[in-house]
Amino acid sequence: MVLLSAAAAARAILISLHEVMASRSGPQAKLNQIVEVIGAKLDSEVCSIYLLREGMLELFATRGLNQAAVHVTRLAVGEGLVGTIASNIETLNLAEAAAHPDFAFRPETGEEKFHSFAGVPIVRRERAVGVVAVQHVDPRRYEEVEIEALQTVAMVLSEMIANAELIDAEDALGVSAQQTGPERLKGQPLVKGIAAGLAVYHQPRVTIEQIVAEDTEAERQRVYLAFDRMREQIDRMASQAEFGVGGEHEEVLETYRMFAYDEGWSRRINEAIDSGLTAEAAIERVQQRTRMRMRQIDDPLLADRMHDLEDLSNRLLRIVSGQLGTAASMGLKGDAILIARNLGPAELLEYDRRRLKGVILEEGSLTSHVVIVARAMGIPVIGRVRGLRGCVRDGDQLLVDGDQGVIDVRPLPARTEAFETRFAKNRERQAHYAAMRDVEPVTRDGTRISVMINAGLRDDLPMLGLTGADGIGLFRTEFQFLVSATLPARERQTRLYRDVLDAAGDRPVVFRTVDIGGDKVLPYLRHNGGEAEENPAMGWRALRVALERDGLLKVQARSLLEAAGGRTLNVMFPMVTEPWEFDAAKAVFDGQLAFLKKQKKPLPEAIRFGAMLEVPALAECLDVLAPKISFLSIGTNDLTQFLFAADRAHSKLAERYDWLSPAIMRFLRRVVQSVAPYGIDLTVCGEMGGRRLEALALLGLGITRLSITPAAVGPVKELVRKVNLPDIASAMSGWLDAPPPNLRAALSEWACQRGIECD
Ligand code: PEP
Ligand code: MG
Repeated sequence: MVLLSAAAAARAILISLHEVMASRSGPQAKLNQIVEVIGAKLDSEVCSIYLLREGMLELFATRGLNQAAVHVTRLAVGEGLVGTIASNIETLNLAEAAAHPDFAFRPETGEEKFHSFAGVPIVRRERAVGVVAVQHVDPRRYEEVEIEALQTVAMVLSEMIANAELIDAEDALGVSAQQTGPERLKGQPLVKGIAAGLAVYHQPRVTIEQIVAEDTEAERQRVYLAFDRMREQIDRMASQAEFGVGGEHEEVLETYRMFAYDEGWSRRINEAIDSGLTAEAAIERVQQRTRMRMRQIDDPLLADRMHDLEDLSNRLLRIVSGQLGTAASMGLKGDAILIARNLGPAELLEYDRRRLKGVILEEGSLTSHVVIVARAMGIPVIGRVRGLRGCVRDGDQLLVDGDQGVIDVRPLPARTEAFETRFAKNRERQAHYAAMRDVEPVTRDGTRISVMINAGLRDDLPMLGLTGADGIGLFRTEFQFLVSATLPARERQTRLYRDVLDAAGDRPVVFRTVDIGGDKVLPYLRHNGGEAEENPAMGWRALRVALERDGLLKVQARSLLEAAGGRTLNVMFPMVTEPWEFDAAKAVFDGQLAFLKKQKKPLPEAIRFGAMLEVPALAECLDVLAPKISFLSIGTNDLTQFLFAADRAHSKLAERYDWLSPAIMRFLRRVVQSVAPYGIDLTVCGEMGGRRLEALALLGLGITRLSITPAAVGPVKELVRKVNLPDIASAMSGWLDAPPPNLRAALSEWACQRGIECD
């Protein structure tokens, strides 16, 4: 063949194919013409098209092989070269076909005289629905230009299949779906529970409506503009540091920027447009090619980068096609399992709670806020799942086992039935815990333990009644800010706080002032003066923001004081690092109180101020702080990340450190001892308090107040009633003085021997 540029070769073929597509001939005639066109343009003696029918790759048309083989030669997916291309979704380019280990000779085709072979998959919705292959007598590898032309042809064929011009599309796809069969993926269990539903991608893949361009110049313009917008978006993200929720986000952003400004990428898209594709098809075409190349390189670092490029390419596609919304904006149609790389808590809250049954994240960690929110919503979450995108399509049936961290994709009926049995058991267990609503959490030695819930939204309030909890030990006020499109006005804040107090009745509610920052980012609040933060969890967040932007804290103080008129108000400040910060925050409340007094507004009957112990430094100054406060609440989510210097939202560190480590436990023991002389309430409100084994350890340290996720109230109450405090206290004391090699294992065995269930 006279080598044209890739674009010119593909364009020449596309023009001819366009004519074929426009013709009135029937499917078989069209296919016959197509193989002729491709064979002639690529100067190949053979061109064949195999399409998936009834689960087999059937030779539908050929130029060069025996015509008698058409509709006779059939290969299973994975069988022979054609089957290998389809199953791996990869291109093969071989100088000597018979030398390939997967080569399967089919005598009816008469292919023995052809040595070279190149084939590319015809891909539809990330599945191969066929293969287009060329063969040549001379043993030579096909040129890159020819392969690219072939890949473009495969895209057009895929569109024709979708339009039912070649084979009934549903037939082809239906068969391929069955053919795909069940698969199992593994990840890290982040929120326990099981769920079933259909896969919904948070950022759906764009459907490409048209592949062949009518006006190449117009397509080029569209891509230009889309690139501009995408680059703007990435730059904005970088400047606002509002992207992602992981410690890796800096690195990811840098990579994004590199790709977004990569001249090579935009040039390749332009070349694909030159070959006659629409902007969308060109972006997808280039992405497919990159995907295929990357598949051949077995390097996990590169695979991560590929992931970034996929994300970016999808972003570009969404911009160019105008398909911008997330799945939340389109609404969930039925029971759904949401799939995302990562999510912010606000993004999760945009979904319909009745239909959202489970969440699968490619990243995620136990104490990231999206996971805390999901836990509060009772939605199982599995994180750190690899290989999702290649295996799960939108709409696939999924079973999520958040206890084991296992996902069944397109499960067999037997597996679904087993799940049904587990659902029934779960309902029984829930009924059992619900029946414990009025049971008091008293230990065997007669100590009343206070079991409260963590909450943050109006929707959480019914949980107080359902669980029979002793109150709300942590009300995360920032959740209202996270779910709002703009900063919530004072009246709205007051209304929410009043509703919370009404719902709680005489049970106490501890309102924590806003803890914004870290992984809780408000898109409408420009952070850190617009500067990206290197370590947002240790950055400008929580009380640090509130003290500097005291307008924010003043409004909240007014709202809380007004809402609690005539009642007791419990206010807690997050991330207090040094005692003076507590004083400064309290002074804001005192100022507002004086103002309301002057206005003769109803005031709270009593105000109790407290602090969160989340920053280790504060533990060294408890003697200074304790006399000023009514209560101290240990936020172990943050505290442990700082003690271990391990980002709580970092998926790679998610399993590295154990809450049940001597370091954490000794630290907590010291805190218990430090505050004991002051007679103030000491609570643990981090996630660990909701896990039974951890709760047992905390009881052993002398902690008698827990504020936990509502779903854990029943199980923890049950635990409390089986525990004899002096026993666990002495066991813990022994272990902490001389730590066993594995404290978790020792504690677990201890509990097991005493018939205390602590899963
Ligand atoms: C904590 O840090 O333990 C805590 C309860 O607060 P949050 O999880 O909201 O940071
Ligand atoms: Mg915290």
